[in-house]
Amino acid sequence: MNHALTIRILLFMVLGALFGSLVKFGLTSGAAGAHFVNNVLQVGGKTFISLMQMLVVPIIFVSIVSGVCSLEKADTISSIGFKSFLWFLSTTLLASLLALIIASSFHLGSSVHLAEIVSDNIAPKVTPSLWQFVSDILPSNPIKAMTEANILQVIMFSLLLGVTINVSGDSGRKIAAFFADLNVVFMKYIMILMQVVPYGVFCLLAILFIEQGLNLILGMLNYFIVVLLALFLHLLGTFSTILRLSGLAPKVFFKKMYAAILFAFGVSSSNASIPIILDTMESKLGVSKAIASFVIPLGININKNGTAIMQCVATIFIANIYNIQISLVNYFVLLFMVIMVSVGTAGAPGIGLITLVMILKQLGLPIEGISLIVGVDRLLDMVRTVVNVTGNSMIACLIAKTEKQLDYGVYYRDDSSKTDNTI
Ligand code: ASP
Repeated sequence: MNHALTIRILLFMVLGALFGSLVKFGLTSGAAGAHFVNNVLQVGGKTFISLMQMLVVPIIFVSIVSGVCSLEKADTISSIGFKSFLWFLSTTLLASLLALIIASSFHLGSSVHLAEIVSDNIAPKVTPSLWQFVSDILPSNPIKAMTEANILQVIMFSLLLGVTINVSGDSGRKIAAFFADLNVVFMKYIMILMQVVPYGVFCLLAILFIEQGLNLILGMLNYFIVVLLALFLHLLGTFSTILRLSGLAPKVFFKKMYAAILFAFGVSSSNASIPIILDTMESKLGVSKAIASFVIPLGININKNGTAIMQCVATIFIANIYNIQISLVNYFVLLFMVIMVSVGTAGAPGIGLITLVMILKQLGLPIEGISLIVGVDRLLDMVRTVVNVTGNSMIACLIAKTEKQLDYGVYYRDDSSKTDNTI
């Protein structure tokens, strides 16, 4: 993404927030104002999300197939898969521990006097068992998996198809070339779409500030600040340290991720950010297509560091305000649940709050406590989405490095003077 476009996105975000605040404080009251908010902003925001979202399943499918086709040996896939799972697990544990330490040392929620709380629109869900998860991972009907956007099933189907194409000789080579071309077409689609991103984020930010306003945040300031602090420490502290220890310059990484981060922040959806991240991985950070197309969609669906942080802090907060002691065993249950609930749940806006219900239920904590934090969750969601996508992008770089599939020339190339329209 060129520099001018990035600045434009940032500017439209600020304008959207300002506009939303002005509407909230009654500057554009009356029928015309309501009409504008309900129709223009809502339709604009929804259209923008649909334009991004409609490409997620096709891009995952096509990029994994063409990525796997470009792998020379089948055992590379299992090596990448094994490393990915190790990184997913260890970064989620680090994120959760950091969140627990910060939330506990701030005695979060201990001084809150409990008001009457009513939770009406958050229904508990049932946590799928591990066996259920394993038995559901292969689709009996890949088309159904695609229409239902069951990303894990789409990933499995794409992997199997890619491997089969690889061993199908001449016919396979023709199909592989077709997928490679289709991939180029999809990347072009993203490039064109980037031009409307500023208007899309304007609508989304304006709606957010009209619906939520800043006063909700002030009411839950302690919780809000602690979650933000943990998110930023993990984003800038943990990720930078891991990158540095692995021999990759964090500054370069963050600079190149900047536009994708901004996008994820604006749309609050790591799934909708997949196309942009894939492009950033390949064209700016030098990660091979094979690694990026495998690690990014998989990570975004099973590894959510930012969501884990919010869920740990929220659990401590809710336990404290209800004056419920969390036992040592329950801390382990919490860690286990945080990892489990992110497996297979899409990276969509607000999903972390829904899966928090499962965690609270498992721990025997009152799910009504969620009503306290729901007001500030929308803004925190934007930041934790950034942490989710950045964590997975970092993992893709690390794996590419160890698999010797990282192009250092691209990673360290200075893109700041680029003025063309590539993203
Ligand atoms: N919005 C987050 C994401 O898309 C998920 C969540 O924590 O609610 O990654």
